[in-house]
Amino acid sequence: MIPSYNQVVVDRKALLANYRLLHRKGIPAQFLAMVKADGYGHGMVECSQFLHGQGCTIFGVAELGEAVTLRQSGITSQIFCLIEFLPEYADTIIEYDITPIVFNSRAIEALSRVAEKRLKKVGVHLKVDCGMSRLGVTLHEVSTIVNQINKLPGIFLEGIASHFPCSDDTLSDDTEKTNAIFEVSIEQAGKSASLIRHIANSGATLYFPATHRDMVRCGISLYGYYPDGEHEEKEAGLQPVMAFKSRVIQVKKLPVGTGIGYGHTFTTKKITRLAVIPVGYEDGYSRLLSNSGEVLIRGERAPIRGRVCMNLCMVDVTEIENVETGDEVVLLGKQGDEHISANQIAMHSDTISYEVLCMIGNNNQRLYI
Ligand SMILES: *Cc1c(COP(=O)(O)O)cnc(C)c1O
Repeated sequence: MIPSYNQVVVDRKALLANYRLLHRKGIPAQFLAMVKADGYGHGMVECSQFLHGQGCTIFGVAELGEAVTLRQSGITSQIFCLIEFLPEYADTIIEYDITPIVFNSRAIEALSRVAEKRLKKVGVHLKVDCGMSRLGVTLHEVSTIVNQINKLPGIFLEGIASHFPCSDDTLSDDTEKTNAIFEVSIEQAGKSASLIRHIANSGATLYFPATHRDMVRCGISLYGYYPDGEHEEKEAGLQPVMAFKSRVIQVKKLPVGTGIGYGHTFTTKKITRLAVIPVGYEDGYSRLLSNSGEVLIRGERAPIRGRVCMNLCMVDVTEIENVETGDEVVLLGKQGDEHISANQIAMHSDTISYEVLCMIGNNNQRLYI
């Protein structure tokens, strides 16, 4: 295979450092590594196999298909499927020993039926909606569904889970309120002493220790980013795991008054040296970075000029000496003393680090170091 000019580099050492830091923060709570969305763009199978080797025993994905792929890759740890399965896939849950999050009667009944047939008793985790208004049963449905679970012969209630909508905001009192509602739901579920209770995502794990309970579920922080996007310069804690690199493929000199790219959304105001880079929105580099993003070349920042195209973008290298065809371009990560974080790219493209990592990571060849 001919390699692309563009490469995502995944740093295992940084991943390990983040895992150890977060695992330690969560103790005595257990640690679930969130590897949905192909490991937030870092590679679900590669990251899970690596973390598994480092002692990580619990993984979480969104869909059942991801869970099966992960199981087939040789992961013997517990795998949570965080979006519920469709009733017709109850058999798959049991076949691949996946831990389901449940909130719907039909799925529970289907699971119990199949489990009974196979002489199994499957542990399920009930998802409660404590204020996110996304997945889960509402507080007043908890006792009804728990009664249903307790009556079904093929399954048992192993855990209870919820999710925080605002835990990235350390100033908001929403997380404490949501946590209190979760407490009520645990009481409603009964036999609370034996249930595995989990609600903390990265924000709650880092900023709200009282919410850790029996297990924390960390995603973005595992990949080196604080969910509120502000700490990267201040703290020597989490380390970004992903870098994204390319090469300069052409350098040219343009006179004053020259339009650049589709729609000529930028016109040169001085004699300009322009470098062309083979990265575009097809590579997960958003078109919203047109005239707003920056890249690193020879350790210095070069601003995007004109629109980001499908496979190409152009940057101004007038102020950077000796830029040549073939020079390394860093779109995300470190070069020399400069650093571009996923938060910076997110700021320039009206989104969050999560989306930047997914888009870049899942649209390029990955190299693991
Ligand atoms: C994605 C997800 C997490 C992890 O969130 P981060 O903010 O990335 O740590 C935890 N729990 C659920 C249910 C999720 O969907």
